[in-house]
Amino acid sequence: MTNEYQIRVQPHVAANEQALRSFLADEYGFDVRTLTAVRILRRSIDARQRTIFVNLKVRVYINEQPQQDEYVHTDYPDVSDRPQVIVVGAGPGGLFAALRLIELGLRPIVLERGKDVHERKKDLAQIAKTQQVDGESNYCFGEGGAGAYSDGKLYTRSKKRGSIEKILNVFCQHGASTNILADAHPHIGTDKLPRVIENMRNTILRSGGEVHFQTKVTRLIIEGDRVVGCFAADKEFLGPVILATGHSARDVYRYLAESNIDIEAKGIAVGVRLEHPSELIDQIQYHNRHGRGKYLPAAEYSFVTQVDGRGVYSFCMCPGGFVIPAATGPEQIVVNGMSPSNRGGQWSNSGMVVELRAEDIEGDDPLRVMAFQEQLERDCWQQGNRRQTAPAQRMADFVNNRLSYDLPKSSYAPGLISSPLHFWMPKSISHRLQEGFKAFGRMSHGFLTNEATMIGVETRTSSPVRILRDAETLMHVRIQGLFPCGEGAGYAGGIVSAAVDGERCAEMCAQWLLD
Ligand SMILES: Cc1cc2nc3c(=O)[nH]c(=O)nc-3n(C[C@H](O)[C@H](O)[C@H](O)COP(=O)(O)OP(=O)(O)OC[C@H]3O[C@@H](n4cnc5c(N)ncnc54)[C@H](O)[C@@H]3O)c2cc1C
Repeated sequence: MTNEYQIRVQPHVAANEQALRSFLADEYGFDVRTLTAVRILRRSIDARQRTIFVNLKVRVYINEQPQQDEYVHTDYPDVSDRPQVIVVGAGPGGLFAALRLIELGLRPIVLERGKDVHERKKDLAQIAKTQQVDGESNYCFGEGGAGAYSDGKLYTRSKKRGSIEKILNVFCQHGASTNILADAHPHIGTDKLPRVIENMRNTILRSGGEVHFQTKVTRLIIEGDRVVGCFAADKEFLGPVILATGHSARDVYRYLAESNIDIEAKGIAVGVRLEHPSELIDQIQYHNRHGRGKYLPAAEYSFVTQVDGRGVYSFCMCPGGFVIPAATGPEQIVVNGMSPSNRGGQWSNSGMVVELRAEDIEGDDPLRVMAFQEQLERDCWQQGNRRQTAPAQRMADFVNNRLSYDLPKSSYAPGLISSPLHFWMPKSISHRLQEGFKAFGRMSHGFLTNEATMIGVETRTSSPVRILRDAETLMHVRIQGLFPCGEGAGYAGGIVSAAVDGERCAEMCAQWLLD
């Protein structure tokens, strides 16, 4: 027999299977010896009051064992002799497009400019050591895309529940913990993601697909109004193209603009990474001066307000994580965040960003938001002594227009340099951030503090360009056989939404090709 229950328990009960079984037996009058298994179906933390509760939806097995895996298994048939589709980019958009193509009986040829997920890691380590960024292998380029070395947050605001669950199940099939199916805010962690990505690549290869690394696509092959393939590494690859090159492939945007392939400027958000001691965030969010204790995860936060008609908000929070150098070329500083699966680090960071609309920048050049982004990243690099040492300022000093005489310790490996961000960042950004920080300090006592460091600049929050596609066929508005996909095309804003878009593009491509 199985029964499902919605329960509310203290964190130590939720964290310990024996304690949970005893609680269920007491609460519902079972003999605990008949309880053969308990599966957690949903888990969320309620930290609104001083006493913290964990809300659980559980399935209880009485005198029987679970019959099925905890996740839904997808079959990947052999597609070696099936028509091929070119997938450009091995980020979540491209990888999930490739896997879905296989399900639909098509053969994906994945072309990725960067290295495989393990080789790539060596280049990331070099950034702090040499202060140089490899333009083809960095935190945004390489197998797994921008999501590979991240927090691996799988939370999305999208309401497409079925599609999201499919993505989470595919992650589990490739080695992610089944906790992601239960947690309200699931995440995988940067230590676990590379293995999951490698397993996805192996599924593609085993099914007869191809994955080519260090194979940068430099142009599309267009005949009339139809894409028939692309050029990469001096070779032609033929087939319709799913273009999933992410928000940092500026050469791709330039190529599209020069080739008159319809694109438009898109709004983004820009600001800084803000880093607090994780203990302080735990104390604030869990209302406890002793922090989170043994049974609760590092605390998260989320803030949003409006200043002078534009949103100011926290973005991509990484509890117990690191601030990382996410530039993709020389003469840029870009920061972002990642965290390991246990989120056990000394600091918690998040992007603190201000909404920037395309109309906020003069002109009609489709690359104007990208140009603004590039300029800010260059300014930041100059302020950072023309190295990857990032300009930084204590939070309260910034709000009070004061230079910081010294800086707190930080997780940012290339190092920080004290800098008056209030002075050199564009006023439209710095003023709104100052007002936003004051508002967040009012919402959450202790949050606005000089123990927190702002690190410049966070600019790659989403794509500065949208590649125009038909809303139904997902094909480019003018060019047949081209499927702009994922974050770089302007249709996703995170790992899960890019993956969902990848699956949809694969479905539409299959329909177009096979009909
Ligand atoms: C450090 C960091 C942390 C993040 N943390 C999270 C998080 O916790 N949760 C979350 O939801 N989102 C997170 N994001 C955002 C998330 O990673 C992206 O939204 C997501 O990866 C977008 O997927 P995508 O496939 O569309 O593009 P990308 O992941 O950017 O992948 C694009 C791929 O295309 C390749 N490429 C580019 N140009 C070419 C070319 N010309 N030829 C061949 N290949 C090319 C790139 O090398 C890259 O591998 C994070 C981003 C960063 C940078």
